[in-house]
Amino acid sequence: MSRTGNWIGVDLGGTWIRVVLSDEKGRFVDRIAEKVDKSSAVAISEQIARIARILCDRNGFHIKTLGGVGIAAAGPLIQDEGILIKPTNIPFDLVPLTEPVTKELGIPACLINDCAGAALGESQFGAAKGLENFVFITIGTGIGCGAIVNGTVLLGKDGNGHEVGHFVIDSAGKLICGCGKPGHWEGYCSGRNIPNYVRMRIKEMPEEAVKESSLLRRVGGDLSKVVAADLFASANEDDSISIRLVNELGVLNAMGFANVISAYDPSLITVGGTVTLNNKRMILSPIRKYVGDYSINRLPKIAITPLGNDVGLYGAVATAIKYLS
Ligand SMILES: [Zn+2]
Repeated sequence: MSRTGNWIGVDLGGTWIRVVLSDEKGRFVDRIAEKVDKSSAVAISEQIARIARILCDRNGFHIKTLGGVGIAAAGPLIQDEGILIKPTNIPFDLVPLTEPVTKELGIPACLINDCAGAALGESQFGAAKGLENFVFITIGTGIGCGAIVNGTVLLGKDGNGHEVGHFVIDSAGKLICGCGKPGHWEGYCSGRNIPNYVRMRIKEMPEEAVKESSLLRRVGGDLSKVVAADLFASANEDDSISIRLVNELGVLNAMGFANVISAYDPSLITVGGTVTLNNKRMILSPIRKYVGDYSINRLPKIAITPLGNDVGLYGAVATAIKYLS
């Protein structure tokens, strides 16, 4: 039990680790972000403990008066053991987190899949307060979701039950996902893979039609250089080909959302992730327009998360409060 009502929340990404000192109402007292220390498998837990101490020291708290440490991380993971197993962005087969952090700091720690954590954060501190059925979807580097169904956050046997990015949305399987399988939602619509979609579609179009496109001008005619932001920037400049591709991606996103709605039947879906947050209207409008073409359920409200890029941090704090109180 927290003696001061304060908690540490950790959002462990592939590149950045972000740590907050938060009160139990989700008000962040202080925060630190660093590049993830990938020098050894135990370096990350040491980094978490070191940052937690700095946050406590500089705000006048003794670490042992805190309730504990919640860690939200991209999987795969074994939640009960507090470890990551062959994480995609960290070059070790096994990364122990909760045990070394607890040992170092003398307070309990817990681990959760970052998207499941984000769903908890949204329901505790954001737009889903009081909702029994709610889903958070992230469209960023990858695509993932966290679901609260009948008031319970869904976790699966190891805490990895949120792999909606690998839902099949193209039976023709023209593009291969980062996981190696064809036709996956994430293989088309994630920040990492939108460039593959753009290249594929541009190659299918007559040269005459694409040569005046500001998208091509933006990358000096070299499609190997295209990134997701180029597509959205060109669409913003009213480039007709870019608008068309953004709309096509919107249809694919609508299929993904329809699958999620069929699986979980939420009353609200909030959407986050860098691709969404940087292009709110262009991502959300086509999803809202087309999702009904693929879903038979009464449609949920679909909205941008009010917690923005901090949804993972709110999730980590909410997870700590839920599991360590
Ligand atoms: Zn996949």
